[in-house]
Amino acid sequence: MKLSQYFIPTLRETPAEAEIASHQLMLRAGIIRKSSAGVYTYLPLGYRVVKKVIKIIEEEMDRAGGQELMLPIIQPSEIWKETGRWDVYGEEMFRLKDRHGREFCLGPTHEEIITTLVRNEVRSYRDLPLRLYQIQNKYRDEIRPRFGVMRGREFIMKDLYSFDKDEAGLQKSYAAMYEAYCRIFTRCGLKFRPVEADSGAIGGDASHEFMVLAQSGEALILYCDTCDYAANAEKATSVLNDKETIGEDSAMKRVQTPGKKTIEEVAVFLDVPAHRLIKTLFVQTSQGLVAVLVRGDDEVNETKLGHVLDCPWHWATPEEVAEVAPLPIGFVGPVGLDARIRVLADRRVMTMTSAVCGANEADYHLIGVRPGKDFVPSAVHDLRTAKAGEGCPRCQGKLQDTRGIEVGHIFKLGTKYSSALHATYLDEAGKEQTIIMGCYGIGVTRTVAAAIEQLHDDDGIIWPVPIAPFHVEIIAISKDQLPAAEELYRALTKAGIEVLLDDRDERPGVKFKDADLMGIPLRLTVGPKGLATGEVEVRVRATREDLRWPIAETVERVQAYLAGELQRIEKELDA
Ligand code: ATP
Ligand code: MG
Repeated sequence: MKLSQYFIPTLRETPAEAEIASHQLMLRAGIIRKSSAGVYTYLPLGYRVVKKVIKIIEEEMDRAGGQELMLPIIQPSEIWKETGRWDVYGEEMFRLKDRHGREFCLGPTHEEIITTLVRNEVRSYRDLPLRLYQIQNKYRDEIRPRFGVMRGREFIMKDLYSFDKDEAGLQKSYAAMYEAYCRIFTRCGLKFRPVEADSGAIGGDASHEFMVLAQSGEALILYCDTCDYAANAEKATSVLNDKETIGEDSAMKRVQTPGKKTIEEVAVFLDVPAHRLIKTLFVQTSQGLVAVLVRGDDEVNETKLGHVLDCPWHWATPEEVAEVAPLPIGFVGPVGLDARIRVLADRRVMTMTSAVCGANEADYHLIGVRPGKDFVPSAVHDLRTAKAGEGCPRCQGKLQDTRGIEVGHIFKLGTKYSSALHATYLDEAGKEQTIIMGCYGIGVTRTVAAAIEQLHDDDGIIWPVPIAPFHVEIIAISKDQLPAAEELYRALTKAGIEVLLDDRDERPGVKFKDADLMGIPLRLTVGPKGLATGEVEVRVRATREDLRWPIAETVERVQAYLAGELQRIEKELDA
C-alpha cells in the first residue's frame, strides 16, 4: 500500500475527549473515528488489525471444534420474554418496533436466539455436542460508553455457545475454550492472565475472565506469587492471619465520642487503629433492612454481598433506616441492635477481640466489644474485598495485585437457558434430557484497544507482529530515493510481506513521526547515504534498535525477523 493513496487521516494533536492512551492513539493514528457516543468507524488501517484478530480467533475456534455461523442482530422480544430477560436487561438493551408494532431488540448477546435454534433442530444425543460461534456486532446501550472502542455501544464480539449432553461434556467444552482463549491471546502477542470471575447476572457456576494486563485496566486482579491462583478482585478471597489480639480482653464499656461519626474520627479520638473498629452499614433489600459489619479498615465487596443477599438490594438511605428504627447514624453498632434488623458479619469481624463500635446512642461508642459474645450476627460470610499482601487461599503464597482489561469471558451456564427455552434431546434410552450449555465471549474490538494499551510508548503504538496492520514501512528520504524504495516495496510485496510505502511528499521528520505513531514493526529507510553503500537503515519499533542491512538481503532479513517473532510466540504456546 502506498501512503500517498491510502485513506489514513492521522492527527498531530491529542484529541481532548480521549482519556487513555489507546483511545488517543487510535484516533491519532487514523484507526478509528467516532460516529456517536460509543459507536465508531474502523478506518482502513484499523480494520486490517480487526481482521487479523478475527482470523486468529476463527482458526482457534475451529481448532477447538467450533462451527462458525451467523445469527441475526435483530431479535424478537418473545424469546427474551421466555427467559425473563426482556425485563431484566433494562436500559442496556436497544429496543425497536417494526411497522406492525412488534417488539425487537438489537442483540446485546445471543443465548436466547441460539438456544431456540438448537431447540428446534436438535433431537437426539447423536446431534450433540455442538459448539457454534459467530463474530458479529453486539449492541449494548452502556450507561457510560468510554475509552473509545474499549467500552462501546456497538462493538464486535466473538461468541461461542456449547451444547452438551451432560456435565462431563460441558467440562470438556469449557476446557477446550479455556485452552483456545490462552492460545488466541498468546498468538495476538499479548500478556494476559485468566482469572476466576464472578458469574454475575448471566448465572452458572463457573467462569473465567481473560485479562490483558495494563495499568489503565478497569479490573483489579489479585494473583498468587507462588501458585497459579488469580481472581478478579470482585471475587478473590484470601487467607488472613489475624492472630494479633490488640488491647486487653476487658469487659465492654460505653464511652463518650461527641460528634465523632466516621471511622477516622473515632479512631483518632479514642486513639485506636482503624482495624479495631467495626464498621456497620445498612442495605435495603426486598426482604427488609440488613446491617453489614466489616472491620474498620476493610471495604464491603458488593459482588460478594449481592450473592449472600440473593435478592434486589441497595445501600439504605437514612430515611429507610429511620423507618425501621430510630438509630443515630454514625453511632450505630451490632450490640443490642433492633432485632428486626438482620446482621451479616464479615468473617474477619469474628476474629476481632476488644473491638470498638457504635453504642446505638448519639455521641457514644462501645469499647472492649467481643464479637460472638457481646453480639451474635445472623450469619457470617466472606464479605470484604481481599487485598494484596494477604495470604493465597490455595497455598502458602502471598497475593499481589495488578490491573487488567477484560477481553474475554467464559461461563458454564448449565441449564439456565435450555430449561427456560425447553432445549432438550432424547438420550440413549429415549428419555428426554435438558441440554447443558456454556457461553464464551471475546471482545474483538476491545482486544485491539487493549493491545495498544499494553504496547505503546510516548511516540505511538508498538504493534506485535501477528496483529500489526503491516509488517514493514518503507520511508524514502526524498524523491530521489523513491525509485529504489519502490523497487524494495515490490520485492517485499512479492515475497508475501505486507508493506506500507511512505511515498508522500513530506519532510523526513514528519514521515518518521507518523511511522512511530502507526507502530509498524519494522521501518526501512532508503536515504542517499545508504544507497551509496547499498544499504537500508532499519529501525525495530519494539526495541528501538537501529540496524543496517544490505539492500540485496533485505527480503530475507525481513522474513527472518518476522519468522523469529512468530517462533517466539510458538514457543510460548508450547510452554
Ligand atoms: P464488562 O464487565 O466489561 O461490561 P461484560 O461482562 O458485560 O463486560 P460479556 O457479556 O461477558 O461482557 O461480553 C464478552 C466480552 O465482550 C467481554 O469480555 C468484553 O471483552 C467484550 N465487551 C463487553 N462489553 C463491551 C463493550 N461495551 N464494548 C466493547 N467490548 C465489550
Ligand atoms: Mg457489561
